[in-house]
Amino acid sequence: MSKRIIIIGGGIIGLLSGRELLRRGHVVTLLDGGTLRGSASTGNAGMISPGHPPIPTPEVAQQAIRMMLDRRSPLYIPPRPSLSLLSWLLAFRRACRPAHYSMVSTVLDRFSLRSRELFDPLLQEVPEALEATGFWQLVRTPEGLEHLVEERDRLESAGFDVELKKGDALHAEISGWDEDVQAGLVHRSGIVARPDDLLLHLADRLEAAGGQLRTGTKVTRIHRTGQAFDSVELDSGERIEGDALLVAAGIWTTQFAKDLDIRIPMQAAKGYHVMLEMDDPPDAAAVLQEACVVVNPMGHQVRLAGTLELSGINDRMVRRRLDMLAEATRSYMARVEDARRVSEWNGLRPCTADGLPAIGNVPGMSNAFVATGHAMMGVTLGPATAEMITDCIDGRAIPDWAEPMNIARYR
Ligand SMILES: Cc1cc2nc3c(=O)[nH]c(=O)nc-3n(C[C@H](O)[C@H](O)[C@H](O)COP(=O)(O)OP(=O)(O)OC[C@H]3O[C@@H](n4cnc5c(N)ncnc54)[C@H](O)[C@@H]3O)c2cc1C
Repeated sequence: MSKRIIIIGGGIIGLLSGRELLRRGHVVTLLDGGTLRGSASTGNAGMISPGHPPIPTPEVAQQAIRMMLDRRSPLYIPPRPSLSLLSWLLAFRRACRPAHYSMVSTVLDRFSLRSRELFDPLLQEVPEALEATGFWQLVRTPEGLEHLVEERDRLESAGFDVELKKGDALHAEISGWDEDVQAGLVHRSGIVARPDDLLLHLADRLEAAGGQLRTGTKVTRIHRTGQAFDSVELDSGERIEGDALLVAAGIWTTQFAKDLDIRIPMQAAKGYHVMLEMDDPPDAAAVLQEACVVVNPMGHQVRLAGTLELSGINDRMVRRRLDMLAEATRSYMARVEDARRVSEWNGLRPCTADGLPAIGNVPGMSNAFVATGHAMMGVTLGPATAEMITDCIDGRAIPDWAEPMNIARYR
């Protein structure tokens, strides 16, 4: 039965969900407080990377204290008096245990493989924003190589198409990188995106398919009658009614926790990018393992993206961390020093402590749904999330294997 669905949030999760809901015959109104430019969904690194590990891992647990104190660490947690941060960090530490990591990886591997399948029609539809070229994970140190070998073994045993190349064999396949780069793992099923173009395409298609898209429209409150959602209130005072609500507002989903009477324990993990102009950009997209920087060539420009900073919900640009991106890239590609910086950006990843997204029917409400918490994998997991949340809205249960991602775990 066709329902009037209101979606809060025009990031990758809201737009892909709107697309799927329209495809299944629902009437969609998508509300976004911004312009659809500037969110994590446009500024991200653009790697669609099935098999990407979660943030909490056993290795991260060992390095946690150093990261809290080191301003130059890719994962930086500036100390601040916040009870929610403290309880998030404690839960995060628990999630780094090997057994939890193994469970989370299994769920994310399966979810990301499904998402990769669902990207196929989009690859045909929007070739200017998505290319199935695969991408590289490059290393320049013996420790990096050791990590790559472990990563290859993990991914191969989970069924992903990866291959390790070293020395000359590597440099015969990629050009534009310094000889110091000694090995690379190619992720053949990876897709490289131009996130800004992808988002604008999805917005256009949503409207072309009959969806209503309202930007500059901030939702301030969710109204309910007993167990049921009935309307959202905008900052203008206007109220919009619907048969069901999907909150896909990234990190800002937490602002609706009280209205929905749920806990959504997330922290904002700030990331940065710089756009550089280069006459001879590298010919392949790559994750620089030791530096934790992603290099995504886009014509004569190159996006360097990375860093993960738990400093709360704000858009403060910390120059030192922004500059780290180019500095760290220099040891893989010295000529990046001569490149002209065209623009700078930061944005917030919505991160749960347990490393899994939070998807599903809001406990205790018949017609309210949430899809958030995708951390470093929002683009990668977008299509599978859209499919799963649409199933939920259509009355289907989350499958058993995906139950650890159910928002109901925070009851
Ligand atoms: C530096 C960096 C690199 C990344 N690289 C990758 C990558 O390579 N691959 C990958 O898969 N992922 C990557 N990510 C993660 C990915 O970008 C996020 O997981 C994803 O964008 C989250 O999407 P979202 O739709 O949940 O939230 P967002 O993109 O944050 O969108 C939320 C939207 O909700 C709107 N909103 C908020 N509050 C309200 C309100 N009250 N009313 C109306 N609208 C509201 C906002 O305006 C915004 O448009 C990266 C992130 C960063 C920061």
